[in-house]
Amino acid sequence: MSDLEELYQEIIMEHNRKPKNFRALDDADRSANGFNPFCGDTITLYLDMADDVIAEVGFQGSGCAISRASASMMTESIKGKSSAEAKDIFEDFHQMLTRGTDGEFDSERLGDLELLAGVSEFPTRIKCAILSWHTLKAALKGQEGTVKTE
Ligand code: ZN
Repeated sequence: MSDLEELYQEIIMEHNRKPKNFRALDDADRSANGFNPFCGDTITLYLDMADDVIAEVGFQGSGCAISRASASMMTESIKGKSSAEAKDIFEDFHQMLTRGTDGEFDSERLGDLELLAGVSEFPTRIKCAILSWHTLKAALKGQEGTVKTE
């Protein structure tokens, strides 16, 4: 492993150990649940919207390191964004994970999320990384029930 890869690993593990925005929002006006049956990851995502902007975001749940780190990084990247901007980031993230370096995505928009690019080499882990994002989409749409990664 190169030094750079170790650094990436370190940042991802730090998000797993101390996830950002790991809390329920009492006054959330949107929430959704996600479940990844392939790994057992669960997430509940809370959004507090100010007009069309994600003013506050929180999540709870349990799962593997990748799912927690990805959810933690997601909350940091979408806070303060409009729902359309959040969906654009989702599309970039999805491209990066499913198509790797062949994918068409905006690195600048992804920011730290690009640290998860290595996940694209592990198909079973992609569902772990994408779970929180599917849950976000459901929350933005006001979708009821639990989203599954199938
Ligand atoms: Zn997982």
